[in-house]
Amino acid sequence: MYIDGQWIAADGRDTQPVINPATGAIIGQVPLATADDLDRALESAQRGFALWRATPALERARVLRRAADWLLARRDEIAAIATFEQGKPLGETRIELQAAAECLEWYGEEGRRAYGRVIPRQPGSRTMVVKEPVGPVAAFAPWNFPLGNPARKLGAPIGAGCSVILKPPEEAPASAMLIAQALIESGLPAGVMNIVYGVPDQVSRHLLASPIIRKLSFTGSTAVGRHLMKLAADGGQRTTMELGGHAPVLVFDDADLDQALNLMVGSKYRNAGQVCISPTRFYVQENVYSRFLEEFTLRARAVTVGNGLQASTRMGPLAHERRVEAIQALVEDARRQGGQIHTGGHPIALDGGYFFEPTVISQLPLSARVMNEEPFGPLALIQPFRTFDEVIEQANRLPFGLAAYAFTQSAKTALLVGDALEAGMVGINTTAVGSADAPFCGIKDSGHGAENAIEGLEACLTIKQISQG
Ligand code: NAD
Repeated sequence: MYIDGQWIAADGRDTQPVINPATGAIIGQVPLATADDLDRALESAQRGFALWRATPALERARVLRRAADWLLARRDEIAAIATFEQGKPLGETRIELQAAAECLEWYGEEGRRAYGRVIPRQPGSRTMVVKEPVGPVAAFAPWNFPLGNPARKLGAPIGAGCSVILKPPEEAPASAMLIAQALIESGLPAGVMNIVYGVPDQVSRHLLASPIIRKLSFTGSTAVGRHLMKLAADGGQRTTMELGGHAPVLVFDDADLDQALNLMVGSKYRNAGQVCISPTRFYVQENVYSRFLEEFTLRARAVTVGNGLQASTRMGPLAHERRVEAIQALVEDARRQGGQIHTGGHPIALDGGYFFEPTVISQLPLSARVMNEEPFGPLALIQPFRTFDEVIEQANRLPFGLAAYAFTQSAKTALLVGDALEAGMVGINTTAVGSADAPFCGIKDSGHGAENAIEGLEACLTIKQISQG
């Protein structure tokens, strides 16, 4: 852990094993914070906030930019560590590291532009609207993007002039510590960033019960997000919630099928499907349905599954054992309810790791669990549709509203579909919805507020009116 400018080792604390998901081997131990540790982190964050809010935005930006450069200069080394503890292929962790660095740099730059405004009044008086950092932030990052999630959770508050206590995932702690190290080596003062691991429920209850914390930022499941929102309501803290998704993909019969297949097969099995914006429910217009299903199945079968450290691997293991069980249960339920499995459907016994086959399922009734619950795994659900209205109704049927995708070459359909889909992010003929300068956001049960972009910075700022007469 890293508390008040000190690296903290286990030193008699309880620990949790860190497991390489490609082999099941224990590769380390992560210390779990005590109540005293959390109190020290809180006091440190209070001091860090006082210091950092008074630091010029230009200096804050320099620290973030140096941290981005520090990470990029060690790209291969850091990517290997992230793959070792989280499992995704090296090529993916390299891209993730690049995105993490861009995120830090972007928040630094945007933090320099947290401008207010002046409202005209009669001579001798004026009203100013100024933006100020909200205060110490408690942030919780999950294991699916062990580099990218911590970078987002740290970049926004640090760029805005807040301090932050981050609890990265216990499953992949070394990656977050490298992001932290980049910031420390780049001159981030003690107290601005504290990093703790622990029993998630204990850490969140402890931090959110403190009046020092002014904002909560959480990425994870909708159920946990709701629980944390209740705790934040008691403490009066504002929240940013990045929760689950169940992304629909609408493939119209005028789509460039090859482009749709390339992007969608790549995106579906990226990070073994453990991505909140992973395409999940594929609705394909009836004229092209059979071709799409057949070709998607062939391509899914060709995905090489293995240890992410091997150059030939296209899909790594699931992040932990409980995810294999969860995916298997969803597939069994689908099978029982008449779903047709075109490829995959089983765990893969390989080196003791948590591997699961890239899977394609069709003919699913609406009652199948997987049609309603976020699978968070390598399952593609492919169903036909006839009309625009029918497919929009299906796409919007679930309470989730994170990402949605559509493929069409018609400008008119593209416009209509963009308006009709209930989602925080709509990708039309693209999957690129996660860049540092565009808001990453959900609606409905997928959360509220945004990360990245101007909106991600605003989420860490308050506004104040100063009127002078
Ligand atoms: P989970 O619901 O147990 O945990 C999800 C995340 O929330 C983890 O990072 C965990 O450490 C954290 N968490 C759990 N309880 C907490 C608490 N009381 N206080 C603070 N943090 C808490 O599930 P899991 O098995 O780790 O992951 C499976 C599910 O989580 C997936 O099905 C998916 O829906 C969701 N998930 C979503 C994202 C995302 O990017 N939105 C990322 C990871 C997991």
